[in-house]
Amino acid sequence: MKYKKNDIVTVTIEDIGNDGEGIGKTDGYTLFVKDAVIGDVVEARITKCKKNYGYARVEKVVTPSSFRVEPKCSFHKRCGGCQIQAMRYDRQLVFKQDKIRNNLLRIGGFPAALIDTVIEPVVGMEEPWHYRNKAQFPVGYDKEGNLITGFYAGRTHDIIANTDCALGAPENQLILEAVLSYMRDNHVTAYREDTGEGLVRHVLIRTGFWSGEIMVCLVVNGTKLPAAEKLTKNLLAIPLTDTAESGANKKITSISLSVNTEKTNVIMGKDICVLWGKGCIQDTLCGLTFSISPLSFYQVNPVQTEKLYGLALEYANLTGKETVWDLYCGIGTISLCMAKKARQVYGVEVVPQAIEDARENARVNQIANVEFYEGKAEEVLPAFYERLGQAGEDENADKLHPDVIVVDPPRKGCDEKCLETMLRMRPERIVYVSCDSATLARDLKVLCEGGYELKKVRGVDQFGGTVHVEVACCLQRKDS
Ligand code: SAH
Repeated sequence: MKYKKNDIVTVTIEDIGNDGEGIGKTDGYTLFVKDAVIGDVVEARITKCKKNYGYARVEKVVTPSSFRVEPKCSFHKRCGGCQIQAMRYDRQLVFKQDKIRNNLLRIGGFPAALIDTVIEPVVGMEEPWHYRNKAQFPVGYDKEGNLITGFYAGRTHDIIANTDCALGAPENQLILEAVLSYMRDNHVTAYREDTGEGLVRHVLIRTGFWSGEIMVCLVVNGTKLPAAEKLTKNLLAIPLTDTAESGANKKITSISLSVNTEKTNVIMGKDICVLWGKGCIQDTLCGLTFSISPLSFYQVNPVQTEKLYGLALEYANLTGKETVWDLYCGIGTISLCMAKKARQVYGVEVVPQAIEDARENARVNQIANVEFYEGKAEEVLPAFYERLGQAGEDENADKLHPDVIVVDPPRKGCDEKCLETMLRMRPERIVYVSCDSATLARDLKVLCEGGYELKKVRGVDQFGGTVHVEVACCLQRKDS
């Protein structure tokens, strides 16, 4: 083998990998170089050698790329959160556009000429910092045994003690300090993953960017918190000076516990116990009010979410006469936006609390033409289809054959059974909203082989500084 571990080589970075790493060649040998930016010339230390390629990390930037910027966060190299913070934001968007295009080409099997006619440029953020309304901070100990909280280092569960994340809301730092000081003063332990002992595992903080309402939820390995009233006192004493988009002062309105006594990587437990205030917070999105409880999904970047939902609505092309299914509907955000422009909307979601929130949200916003079903999309939809089909095609035609089906699945994409049933339902249009363009491309292939045509694709950047991108697509039935 030409190279070995710890060799130092000089590489010109010519491409970007899926995880944001720089890609370059030295003497025909391909290296994936962590923290290198496309256009850099770097001295890299090889960390792992394979026969035809290897991994390395930057030892020294010899000639910085014109796309290289000074990162805001001093932990960005170690932290697993922001992979491409050192890349200029406009170049990040080009990277995301290429990522969507490549996945459609390689995984989806769509011809380049077709992709280039249907794809529109990624919608970028005006301010790619402090955009996240939600953060989950692990709590633990440093090497000296001090209580800390922050973020996991990339690919590990070592905690970096950083409470000042450049993507999150500024008050998170004050909230975390209040939690840590409560824990120290009352001898409350942090959870240790290796032994399964200790109490506090994570702190979840969610802020309604419009309303200013803040939720603090401690995930605990137990059912109670000692001296819980002291935590509440600490949290309510925080001087919050920041204001929300509505002009209202930010304020903590919900303090709760999530019980998670399992030895698992899943952060939240299934039971929530309210310590103070309401069990949920409210926020406004697209002019509608939403209740959000700790276990419910809510898009993390509200500014870009409005743009994303705007695209989904445009692609759905509603006139007021349509029947719409919204699969993976969460707390009903897309369902309710669509309900204002459709005849009837049906939402499906697996998390029971999210369905409760969705029903409450329909009520609060006085939207009556929407119904929510709890369960897995791949179970609810086929069962529904079979049952109604047997009851009579004609009477149930609108539910069986909706005009539009919207899907917005988690990263793993749609289950095959769900896609299959969608094809049998033959909606005129399918709007696919995705947070992972690889599984999106896989699913679009199935839908297009099943009689649909890809009409529009557009990325919306919800996650500046990271390699992730959200995508909205419109598919039309070929024989419609
Ligand atoms: N459309 C919503 C939620 C999108 S996130 C929004 O924009 O806010 C994806 C949602 O799918 C989550 O709420 C998750 O709980 C839900 N989910 C995950 N797997 C599911 C499945 N198999 N069936 C139905 N819902 C599922």
